[in-house]
Amino acid sequence: MRQIFLLILLFIVGQWLVKALRRHDAQATQRGAGAKGANGGARPSDAPQLAEPMIRCAECGVHAPKSDSVMVAGQPFCSAAHAQRHAARPTGRDAR
Ligand SMILES: [Zn+2]
Repeated sequence: MRQIFLLILLFIVGQWLVKALRRHDAQATQRGAGAKGANGGARPSDAPQLAEPMIRCAECGVHAPKSDSVMVAGQPFCSAAHAQRHAARPTGRDAR
């Protein structure tokens, strides 16, 4: 009968040890994240990248984020090179 009590006691102690270890790990990761946030300050998971509006290049038709686009004469372009190429032949596609 004592052996059963001993087994239960061992089980409880084991559970307590696992809980203590998990708590220790959580604290360590929280400290690590805090140190990273203090150093970098960037939170990539919170960055609303999908909220950025996309534009369609008037020259090649490629969709590019608005922050990377170039607006020339009210038309969006994926790069300055395409804006220049589009301006070099203004009657190309707009003639229709
Ligand atoms: Zn383009």
